[in-house]
Amino acid sequence: MADTLFSKIIKREIPADIIYEDDDALVFRDINAQAPVHFLVIPKKPIAKLSDASAEDQALLGHLLLVANKVAAQEGLTDFRLNVNNGAGASQTVFHLHIHVLGGRPFSWPPG
Ligand code: 5GP
Repeated sequence: MADTLFSKIIKREIPADIIYEDDDALVFRDINAQAPVHFLVIPKKPIAKLSDASAEDQALLGHLLLVANKVAAQEGLTDFRLNVNNGAGASQTVFHLHIHVLGGRPFSWPPG
């Protein structure tokens, strides 16, 4: 997979406001926050998008959700929204899998 902005953040080649890290995941605040709290949970493994993940990623994908939950709690959120954009037609712009976690304001349904 080609280097992306997010792989450069993992390698500390570009700065980010990192709020959690472990062996498999990195979490940092979105540079263009769409809510009072908006952070991104990414795997360190370079997976371009969710539809590129396979059965061997099962534990990693579950881990990312638990990390999202843990950091949401760390940020004081009880109600929050997770969003994964898969592909350009779904507004994915950075092709390194990421889970958006947004909180701190009400969210409507359906999303735009
Ligand atoms: P996507 O549209 O691919 O689902 O989301 C990509 C997200 O990455 C966007 O919300 C965008 O604001 C965020 N983003 C893009 N470049 C950077 C960056 O250099 N640093 C950080 N922290 N976030 C970024």
